[in-house]
Amino acid sequence: MRRYSAFAIAREGARYHTGWERAWRSPKPKKKYDVVIVGAGGHGLATAFYLGKNFGITNVAIIEKGWLGGGNTGRNTTIIRSNYLQDPSAAIYEKARSLYETMSQDLNYNVMFSPRGVMMLAQTHHEVRGYQRTAHANALQGVSTEFISPQRVKELVPIMDINGPRYPVLGALWQPRGGTARHDAVAWGYARACSDMGMDIIQKCEVTGVNQAGGKVTGVQTTLGEIGCDKLAIVVAGNSGDLAGKAGFRLPMESVALQALVSEPIKPTIDVVVMANTVHGYMSQSDKGELVIGGGTDGFNNYTQRGSFHHVEETVRALVETFPIISRLRMMRQWGGIVDVTGDRSPVISKTPLGNTFINAGWGTGGFKSIPGSGWAMAELVAKGEPGPLAAEFGLDRFREGRFIDESVAAGVAH
Ligand SMILES: Cc1cc2nc3c(=O)[nH]c(=O)nc-3n(C[C@H](O)[C@H](O)[C@H](O)COP(=O)(O)OP(=O)(O)OC[C@H]3O[C@@H](n4cnc5c(N)ncnc54)[C@H](O)[C@@H]3O)c2cc1C
Repeated sequence: MRRYSAFAIAREGARYHTGWERAWRSPKPKKKYDVVIVGAGGHGLATAFYLGKNFGITNVAIIEKGWLGGGNTGRNTTIIRSNYLQDPSAAIYEKARSLYETMSQDLNYNVMFSPRGVMMLAQTHHEVRGYQRTAHANALQGVSTEFISPQRVKELVPIMDINGPRYPVLGALWQPRGGTARHDAVAWGYARACSDMGMDIIQKCEVTGVNQAGGKVTGVQTTLGEIGCDKLAIVVAGNSGDLAGKAGFRLPMESVALQALVSEPIKPTIDVVVMANTVHGYMSQSDKGELVIGGGTDGFNNYTQRGSFHHVEETVRALVETFPIISRLRMMRQWGGIVDVTGDRSPVISKTPLGNTFINAGWGTGGFKSIPGSGWAMAELVAKGEPGPLAAEFGLDRFREGRFIDESVAAGVAH
């Protein structure tokens, strides 16, 4: 595949852009692959990419029931940060954040990584103590964060009212190298690189069953017929419980809709990401000028990939005290994605009860930021059959053994 470069843009500009190739192939499925990955979201595609890049395994199919990146990967609010409390979380999220720094170069695809800084507001004394504790933990983990004063918050975000009557801003946990990236581009960049390595991305193909013999996977049934495989990786986020059921095991996970919305586009007003966890809302500004606003999950389990009106009202009402200017804005679009939530709010990168079958799931409301780190760790698990250091603590056995990685504060409401 031809590389994207300034020279290529100039050349195509001179010949009316007639020479661009398709970014990835759309092949028919082969009869059998070394590895079948179910789910062409960011995590599935990143797993495939690192299987090829780190282990030379390229006889791989990535099977997607819709279109690639059409699940949560294309529906999230793109926040990237690694300021988690527990050591295993900080390790994998910081690995991911550092891979985002060079992702555009590594994939030869502009993913628009913007390390504009992420702040998590402390608006109660309890939060002040919690975030100070996280800042200390991050210092020990080698993650660069600091607890900043209300005055510094105001300098960084002049549109904020830090003296709100109910929830004044008492400080914030600040990660200067956190930020955002263009979510679709992350999926498209990985897809292009995987296709270039000879992997098959098969869209509009749903996995409907899992074939097995002697306690091991032998292939999958799909809407395009049976596809054999030596190893199976299940990477389907909100559909994890459903697919695990088809493979014959259960997961300690729930699926629930998480919603977000954007305002009409306005001139640049805020150039960092702000999360306000006490009032339950967060905001950043997209390159198009829209304020990207995220809220909470639905209060009941469901599979509806859509927004609902009361979420718009509740989320904007929560944020308006701290950001008075948004009371005058029209909200333009809202949507939902189905997230897969575990009891300890930490993910699963694990072997399963079915031989040669592995699962990557449970990223809940916060798995966009982890895509490259998760793909790196999952590829190692699939290639070697055993987890490496990044995935070791995230096995399914932790629920049986009570070794929870409690991130309910860092990940429960935030993203
Ligand atoms: C509104 C919202 C806001 C969010 N904000 C953030 C944020 O700011 N920062 C952050 O870090 N995270 C955020 N997240 C979470 C993040 O989007 C997800 O954790 C992440 O995208 C999960 O990626 P994935 O590849 O595992 O799943 P997905 O992108 O959902 O991919 C899974 C794919 O599997 C496919 N699939 C399912 N079943 C089958 C089947 N049987 N056969 C074939 N294919 C199948 C689906 O069609 C889907 O494309 C947010 C999520 C939502 C919904």
